[in-house]
Amino acid sequence: MPINSNEIPVLLDLPPSLQAFINQAKVFYNKLASDSPQNVAVIGGGLAGSEVAFSLALSGHKVSLFEMKPNKYSPAHTSSDFAELVCSNSFRSADHTNAIGLLKLELKELNSLTMAVAEETKVPAGKALAVDRELFSKYITAILEQTPNLTIIREEVCHLDLNLAPLKGFDKVVLSTGPLSSEPITEALAKLTGQDSLYFYDAIAPIISAESVDRSIVFAGSRYNPEEEDYLNCPFTKEEYEVFYQALINGETVGAKDFEKEIHFEGCMPIEALAARGEKTLLFGTMKPVGFEDPRTGRRPFALLQLRPENRNKETYNLVGFQTKLLYKEQERIFRLVPGLANAEFIRHGSMHRNTYVNAPKTLNADLSLKANPKIHLAGQITGVEGYLESAANGLWLGFYLANNLSGKNLSPLPETSVLGSLMNHLQRETKNFQPSNVQYGLMPELHIKAKKKSRKELYAQRTREAFEEWLSTLPQ
Ligand SMILES: Cc1cc2nc3c(=O)[nH]c(=O)nc-3n(C[C@H](O)[C@H](O)[C@H](O)COP(=O)(O)OP(=O)(O)OC[C@H]3O[C@@H](n4cnc5c(N)ncnc54)[C@H](O)[C@@H]3O)c2cc1C
Repeated sequence: MPINSNEIPVLLDLPPSLQAFINQAKVFYNKLASDSPQNVAVIGGGLAGSEVAFSLALSGHKVSLFEMKPNKYSPAHTSSDFAELVCSNSFRSADHTNAIGLLKLELKELNSLTMAVAEETKVPAGKALAVDRELFSKYITAILEQTPNLTIIREEVCHLDLNLAPLKGFDKVVLSTGPLSSEPITEALAKLTGQDSLYFYDAIAPIISAESVDRSIVFAGSRYNPEEEDYLNCPFTKEEYEVFYQALINGETVGAKDFEKEIHFEGCMPIEALAARGEKTLLFGTMKPVGFEDPRTGRRPFALLQLRPENRNKETYNLVGFQTKLLYKEQERIFRLVPGLANAEFIRHGSMHRNTYVNAPKTLNADLSLKANPKIHLAGQITGVEGYLESAANGLWLGFYLANNLSGKNLSPLPETSVLGSLMNHLQRETKNFQPSNVQYGLMPELHIKAKKKSRKELYAQRTREAFEEWLSTLPQ
């Protein structure tokens, strides 16, 4: 039974800094007011949904924000407030030489609700931006409740048919129900995208930096084809494999949450679970050495791990088939036993968890609308971005884009050298194996400059800032 939002005691007095932010955001979005305001339904009041709803409502559109809490909770959500942080309380690094630090700057320049409230509720966390999670969600909720043109409806939406209540009468729908979208809406989405373009599970292998790979041991080449230099290969002797194998099967893993106790498809079993089937299992599968010759010995290695470039610049590599539930510190200890990876720098650790997301390049247009029904847009993690801030950024971008578009203003495309631009481009780039991504320099075009790691980061940062500032200057006034 849907409950009225008035039954939820939230209303807080907002601190002056947030009052000032709201006034500034009102001025910013008021410039995008449209002559023909639309009725927009936003489904899901997480990080993305809150951003979309806020920006569209301030641009004068009539927004209804549907949120199933507190009538129904996903297995990870526990509070009735909006923009709930379900796990860590960190928005990661605030260092402005990192992609995630720069994203914070770009979001602030677009009057992001998430960033304004995060800064107001931050707690000491070194170089990271971490928040008091309860206060963070309470302030977001309070702001949404006071936003003009925004109606909050505490109800689960179970279909995507715009001819049926509660979606009847809406011009547009934004689906931002997140990685743990409720079952009925997931089924409705699968009908529109096709089952094989909607994924339910992430099986992520670790990613390491290219420069941390020891090239005196690791060699380039594909199976049976040494001329193809895309893959790198880490060759094992029998003794090296035995040491690695023992460490792998005895490594400490993350326990599955109840809702994650799902059957793994054979193709994405955790590497340690495959290994536990027997010492030789990996030698006939993931770590098969057939078709390779170690250039140092001229012989076939006993076992082999392949590294696949993770980005166009070949600055980062994926450990092929090494999706894992090992604890992060265990991944570092055990995978550094792989010959050539003793000093591996982990850009991203492996993980396996529930995640509902679409094959974006196949199913979404550039404005995040479904190819199967352009009146329905997706926002947040369900589009194939990964992380709190990336989900918020994706929602903010959609709200900003739609507000401009509906008011007849033409936006120049985001530069692909900006953080936001590179994240949105990731959702349009056709690949054989589309995977969710958080922001990283690897999503951007190469620098084409030889420089040491620290200066490379600074050069990326400088290029990113300049590109975004230039794009900002083109915004319609
Ligand atoms: C268990 C878990 C832990 C995570 N930990 C982290 C972390 O530590 N750091 C990090 O950066 N990222 C983390 N993520 C990834 C991700 O960034 C977050 O899940 C993020 O909250 C996604 O934002 P979103 O707005 O897309 O979805 P959400 O924030 O999940 O919001 C979706 C909202 O939609 C509502 N909803 C769902 N179905 C319906 C429906 N049918 N009708 C109405 N409402 C509905 C939900 O109740 C929820 O409020 C985690 C993900 C999971 C699943």
